[in-house]
Amino acid sequence: MLEAISDFTTWGLPQNRPIFIAGPCSVESPTQVMQTALGLKDSGIQFLRGGIWKPRTRPNSFEGIGSQGLQWLKDAGNAINVPVMTEVANAKHVYEALRNQIDVLWIGARTTVNPFSVQEIADALRGVDIPVFVKNPINPDLALWIGALERLQQSGIRKIAAIHRGFSSHADSRYRNIPLWEIPIELKRRIPDLPIIIDPSHIAGKRELLFDLSQKAFDLDFNGIIIETHITPDKALSDAAQQITPEQFVALKKNIVLRKSAAENPDFNAELEHLRHEIDLIDEEILQIFAKRMTIAEKIGLCKQKNKVTILQKDRWDTILRTRIEDGSKKGLSQDFVVNMYNNIHKESIRHQTKIMNQDSGERKTE
Ligand code: PEP
Ligand code: MN
Repeated sequence: MLEAISDFTTWGLPQNRPIFIAGPCSVESPTQVMQTALGLKDSGIQFLRGGIWKPRTRPNSFEGIGSQGLQWLKDAGNAINVPVMTEVANAKHVYEALRNQIDVLWIGARTTVNPFSVQEIADALRGVDIPVFVKNPINPDLALWIGALERLQQSGIRKIAAIHRGFSSHADSRYRNIPLWEIPIELKRRIPDLPIIIDPSHIAGKRELLFDLSQKAFDLDFNGIIIETHITPDKALSDAAQQITPEQFVALKKNIVLRKSAAENPDFNAELEHLRHEIDLIDEEILQIFAKRMTIAEKIGLCKQKNKVTILQKDRWDTILRTRIEDGSKKGLSQDFVVNMYNNIHKESIRHQTKIMNQDSGERKTE
């Protein structure tokens, strides 16, 4: 049913033009949000963001200014003639936001994980025509993200968009939330008209990474970015390290290169078609080679079965990974790519061997 989701044109936004959202992580005071907004006056943003209720990981940190800040946010938006948006996490937030004429809502990552909360918000919005952005859940679960979009749609909300803000991970990473771009890319593939914007601030966690992530968002053909912007970022009460000044936001936006998703130039199209044909042929070869590799893996499975040897041979697997990484790096392939590819090949090889091993061999299974 999500195919029925419409693109940004039904929001009254121009077609084929990316959207930009900026504003503070949290609304802190009337002056802070007003000055931030005034700094963004000529920046060409479509929405001014500001958090009123902040879901924080640890207690005793700043948990948002609460309902009184809604009017400050609205006044700041009015001063620059830009619609405002805030995060809602329960029905009470929805009612307060609507009472204060907040123009757009978003559901935060910690809320999207909880179907009860999303349903409560969807129910509170029944019959209301307001655009809603849904951030991805903190865990990389595409079904849960889609489920939240469906709950809103079933409540009659028609202007729905997604925000990709990265995923929590316990592993060391240069990012605060790892991007796992394949997940929003798959979301786009499944629901082509769904607008998806990228939140480099929460992916990065630090301002140094914002530009590269923003450029990547556009190079991957997503529909826009949302960047946390504060009049004095270092003094921000939440997410200080990732916020930038309005001036820095304007500079970032100016430096972004917008590339077209398709070109009108016939030479370019002919060249592209030719190269894509070459890629198609290579892909066909790759798949044939993989299939051949699996038939050999099955023969090995048979040998192992006859000799009652385990499928997983750890030393052999270690050697394969090490040598392939070395070889790949000589050929200009990153370690990440080679490791991921071999993990997949190995998984598939084990699947083929397991199939052979479990064929009836007259071998008595332990019951
Ligand atoms: C936010 O946008 O300030 C926020 C809390 O984001 P997230 O839900 O992505 O953590
Ligand atoms: Mn934030």
